[in-house]
This record gives sequence, C-alpha cells and structure tokens, in this order.
Amino acid sequence: MTVHVPVPVHLAEPVPLHESEPVRGCGVCTALGKQRAEAAARGDHSRATDCTVEIRNHPHAREGATHERRDA
Ligand SMILES: [Zn+2]
Repeated sequence: MTVHVPVPVHLAEPVPLHESEPVRGCGVCTALGKQRAEAAARGDHSRATDCTVEIRNHPHAREGATHERRDA
C-alpha cells in the first residue's frame, strides 16, 4: 500500500546559543558574537540564532586559528 507521508522539512535547525563560539581574533566572529548578544538581550532569538549559524558557518582553517589572511 502506498501512503503519502510528508517529508519532514527542517525549517530551522535548533542551534544552542552556546554551541558556536566566536573565534578569538576573528573580527567577523567577534562582530557576530556582539550582534548575537544584543539580539538575545532584546529577546530577538531569531536574529540571535542567525548570528550563531553565521558564526558556525564561518570558515576557520582549524580550531583555535584565526582565518584572517596574513598574506598582505
Ligand atoms: Zn570567524
């Protein structure tokens, strides 16, 4: 028998605010971390989550390393 079952769609991943730490020395992550704190402070959890996702998705070569190029 064929039953049409809607595929669950992940509209938004639950992202714990403490899961993604801004990388020390990364200006972008630092800015996002600040924005996230401000958003959380005003109750804007949607925006705060966005910042967390951005931080998590920010490319970092390796743990503890900054991704700021120094080949200037
Ligand atoms: Zn970063």
